Amino acid sequence: MGSDLPSAFVDALRSQLGPEDVIESGDDLRYYASDRCKGDWPVAPGIVVLPRSVEQVRAIARLCTAHRVAIVPSGGRTGLTGAATAIAGELVLSLARLDRIESVDPVSRLLHCQAGATVQAVQEAAAAHGLSYPVDFAAKGSAHIGGSIATNAGGVKVLRHGLTREWVSGLDVVLADGELLHIGGELVKNNTGYDLRQLFIGSEGTLGIIVAATLSLDRPPAGTLVALAALPSDDAVLGLFERLRASAGLVVSAFECFDRGCYARVVEHRSRAATQPLEQLGAQQVLVELELRDEGEREAVHEQLVALFEQAVEDELVLDATIAHNEARARELWAWREDISESLHPHTPHKADIALPIRQVVPFMTRWRAAVAAALPDIEALAFGHVGDGNLHLNLLRPAALAHAEFLARVHEFDPTMYGLVREHGGSVSAEHGIGLLKRDYLGHTRSAREIALMRAIKQAFDPLGLLNPGKIFTP
Ligand SMILES: Cc1cc2nc3c(=O)[nH]c(=O)nc-3n(C[C@H](O)[C@H](O)[C@H](O)COP(=O)(O)OP(=O)(O)OC[C@H]3O[C@@H](n4cnc5c(N)ncnc54)[C@H](O)[C@@H]3O)c2cc1C
Repeated sequence: MGSDLPSAFVDALRSQLGPEDVIESGDDLRYYASDRCKGDWPVAPGIVVLPRSVEQVRAIARLCTAHRVAIVPSGGRTGLTGAATAIAGELVLSLARLDRIESVDPVSRLLHCQAGATVQAVQEAAAAHGLSYPVDFAAKGSAHIGGSIATNAGGVKVLRHGLTREWVSGLDVVLADGELLHIGGELVKNNTGYDLRQLFIGSEGTLGIIVAATLSLDRPPAGTLVALAALPSDDAVLGLFERLRASAGLVVSAFECFDRGCYARVVEHRSRAATQPLEQLGAQQVLVELELRDEGEREAVHEQLVALFEQAVEDELVLDATIAHNEARARELWAWREDISESLHPHTPHKADIALPIRQVVPFMTRWRAAVAAALPDIEALAFGHVGDGNLHLNLLRPAALAHAEFLARVHEFDPTMYGLVREHGGSVSAEHGIGLLKRDYLGHTRSAREIALMRAIKQAFDPLGLLNPGKIFTP
């Protein structure tokens, strides 16, 4: 595959990098060339490079500019929109070997790391200093900080702690021509014109290659209380959410829902018979996490939550609920929610990550299910998500007997209906996964023509030759 690239370019790469840092053929070439989203696009990398220093990243960018070779920046490849996929002989630039945590400063509560450090490694480094990096999602063990910044990852704690965007204090970015920008860093206040740092957050590798980041840290909660509840209906989900948030003294840090079908798929996926945490299942299951301000309030918060659930059972908002009595049980309850993506993976789901105004969540879900039943009656439709943020992950599962290509053709035919409903309900076609290849045709459902033109102008200013992740976000 590498043979389509100019030989002078490949020779120059070989001279800049060690032999084990350039992959020109074999399984590894494809391994690094795509993310977790398998769509109807080719996976066609030209070459993969794994630089070990920022200087090497800069040299690669300069070579790519000189030879007009496109670059796909690649992190942990856990992305869900095809944004880290090489589709036309590009150079895949993996940040995997730039994975050092450089420093943690407890006074300024800042952590500095290279882009290839995983989100989990950052969380662990912060925890070693009694601090926390609160962006948290199921792929944290593989997802890089660079990738999570490039996708502005959200996750399960957005309700309380916000998206990645709120935790990035500074960035080091290599531009397409090889120049290194240091943007922000240790300053808390810096009102000196446009905040370029924010442009790179969520840019999906189209504006620059993030090589390092300075992240803000927080004091971790004194403790958490985790509960799982079965609810009789979609409507009950928002009813319970309102009651929890209205209860003085309860700090809700996560409010996640998943329907009965998601629960069944987790049971199916687990190799050993799982102990069922609830006696009764509902149309929706809700995972609730509360933060404690100090350990001393655990008992009182526990009692308050029990009383709230008892009242909710009486009012037919809740069918059954369980509250974790220790850390191990809390992890077990969380796993029912966190294992959903992995459990659906074998069914090669067609996914949509959408955001809605909170009050529109239930009306939207009702119409979406009816639309799927009418158009795709043989296809199972499952929904889960960060419902406290109005963020739903919609999944259409491929029936085992249906060939992948046919499945994709049918679900893509349904996409305009689904995204049309999102638009009608005032939602966004991407809540937290980004646009990539998967949703570029629907960008205009959420952003106006003028906004898209301005975004294209920004892209042109940073990357005039169009070498950084071409074809992602925008239709060519
Ligand atoms: C099981 C599972 C659960 C998930 N849960 C969530 C969730 O709850 N919330 C959420 O928001 N996401 C979630 N995701 C999606 C995914 O994990 C995130 O989008 C993650 O932030 C991607 O990071 P990555 O390092 O894997 O990036 P990749 O997939 O490698 O790349 C993603 C994009 O970032 C670009 N990129 C990567 N590294 C850099 C860099 N250093 N510089 C510039 N551009 C770069 C790529 O070109 C691509 O456009 C989940 C994924 C899985 C598989």
